[in-house]
Amino acid sequence: MLLELRRLLDLSLVFIGHDLAVIRQVSQRVMVMYLGRVMEIAPAAELFARPRHPYTRALMAAAPVPDPKLERARAAPALGGEIPSPLAPPSGCVFRSRCAYAIDRCAADIPRLEAAGSAQVACLRAAEI
Ligand code: SF4
Repeated sequence: MLLELRRLLDLSLVFIGHDLAVIRQVSQRVMVMYLGRVMEIAPAAELFARPRHPYTRALMAAAPVPDPKLERARAAPALGGEIPSPLAPPSGCVFRSRCAYAIDRCAADIPRLEAAGSAQVACLRAAEI
């Protein structure tokens, strides 16, 4: 219905969701947020084919696979720990307390969105990982 409305009325829609399969189906561009900060923005096809930010990758890895055999064979999701309080977010990169790629600099510097192909990524190590 959303896709039909968008087409018929030439609408731009902002769809907020947590179900990656639905987001993939209805979106042209996707913005991934964590603790109120933008982690990555990319065309939907590119984001799902090549997630660049460690949080986006963790989200993709945690999404259920609709095949019981494949689902059981998958490794445990890489994202551990608890979401910090939004009232006292970590310094620097807000994702650093759960990021497997965090380095000392991530505690001091707030990553800005930088172009990476047709995507934009807020990660100090985006070029390396
Ligand atoms: S800036 Fe550092 S902590 Fe944040 S996502 Fe990148 S590597 Fe991880």
